[in-house]
Amino acid sequence: MSALDDTICAVATPAGEGGVGIVRVSGSRALSITSTVVRLRCGKSLSAITSHQLYLGNFLSEHFQTHDQLKQGHATVLDEVLVVTMRTPRSYTGEDVVEVHGHGGPLIVQAMCEALIQAGARMAEPGEFTKRAFLNGRLDLTQAEAVLDTIQANSLHSLKLAQEHLQGGLSGVILGHRDELVKLLAHVEAGMDFGEEDIQFIEQTELQETLRTMLGAIEKLIESAQEGRIIREGIRTVILGRPNVGKSSVLNAILGIDRAIVSQIPGTTRDVLEESVMVEGVMIRLFDTAGLRETIDELEQEGMSRAEEAIHQADVLVMIFDRSQPLTQKDMDLIQEYNHKPRVMILNKDDLPHQISLKDIQKIVKHNKNNLSQTEYVQACALTGEGIDLVKRAVKKLAVGNRHEAGDSVLVSRLRHKILLQQSAEALHNALVAIHDTHSVECVALDLRMALDALGEIVGIVTNEDILDQIFREFCIGK
Ligand code: GDP
Repeated sequence: MSALDDTICAVATPAGEGGVGIVRVSGSRALSITSTVVRLRCGKSLSAITSHQLYLGNFLSEHFQTHDQLKQGHATVLDEVLVVTMRTPRSYTGEDVVEVHGHGGPLIVQAMCEALIQAGARMAEPGEFTKRAFLNGRLDLTQAEAVLDTIQANSLHSLKLAQEHLQGGLSGVILGHRDELVKLLAHVEAGMDFGEEDIQFIEQTELQETLRTMLGAIEKLIESAQEGRIIREGIRTVILGRPNVGKSSVLNAILGIDRAIVSQIPGTTRDVLEESVMVEGVMIRLFDTAGLRETIDELEQEGMSRAEEAIHQADVLVMIFDRSQPLTQKDMDLIQEYNHKPRVMILNKDDLPHQISLKDIQKIVKHNKNNLSQTEYVQACALTGEGIDLVKRAVKKLAVGNRHEAGDSVLVSRLRHKILLQQSAEALHNALVAIHDTHSVECVALDLRMALDALGEIVGIVTNEDILDQIFREFCIGK
């Protein structure tokens, strides 16, 4: 991205028609550039008005000028606008910011941007406003990422989690560990400076104790990443079952619409369909797979390999059985084969005479000694919707439990954070080994510094242009 001393502008509201359309300008020349195209009704210049207050004015444009007007130096009005200045450092970016609120027509905001660019601003790049906020110290890196998560939140819980991070919930914890590490490192390095062979400046047992506690806390954060990801992205749920047990019907019942084609001919579902539904503030992403069975149909074979991939990535499996038919070998294979993920077992077609009971399924599940997954059972009828609410709640319970509702702990939700936490945990672990085995001050100091850097990278104290570009590339222009 380009230099910070440019003044940037962009449309801040979504494309298309709307009540208002906002153009945002940020940089040291934001006020002077905007002044060339905006006339306030009060007659004051932008630099003379009160910051953070809205003023009525006209946005002038050369687009509508007649030859005579041009000659007389008159400009015509493009739109009636409200203008607000936010003077440095009290703005989103930390720089002088001007926002121009016009009518929400795509042509209007586009013309405003063009006029501002002609007056000396540069079109902002994706996420450049937020990047400037980060570079100017208004936000740390986890908070900048939380801005994106807030915009992209797909459920109430993911929004809540993003807001917790935006308020500094995660960075507070990380910075706490970092501060402690800085102190420990200072003690350890003091030993090095004084040419001591062993760690003496801080009691060795005290150092070990503190590092172990910190390692435990960081490991807990790493563990929370699975739940955090699920809350942020949704619960990846794959519907499984042999053909005709009612997979598509259950999917439709969960969604409440006719999304998948329901038919009595086995093999109708040839691809993996994805749909989403909200359950108690969390998004369930449902993947309906092609009937898992051997087939000579090429199209279906492709569908089946995609199904396997979806199963591999799933957080929860929903297995469906037709209880009006005896269990088949295929049903049993399914239970035995996919036993490594949390599962909801549905006995579907509850309205028809029963050929299998709950116990029949439970027996097979329990018979499998290597079964590592948690299992929930639901008796349902996709046609009437009986039991369908229980299915949704069982999926949520298996994926996230009720922990996040209690709001008791900080959750990590991004892979980037998880990887860096793992690096810092490994470095802390190595430091403990070095204290125990070698007593070498240099080795311990090196490990502590690595842990410190990894934590610093999470919040953006340690960073590089590539990482920043990668993060801000995900943003839209105007944020
Ligand atoms: P899939 O091949 O597993 O996706 O199965 P479908 O959803 O296409 O359903 C196969 C057949 O079973 C269709 O005729 C459905 O109407 C029927 N079916 C699905 N669920 C139920 C149910 O709960 N009760 C009854 N009676 N029929 C059902």
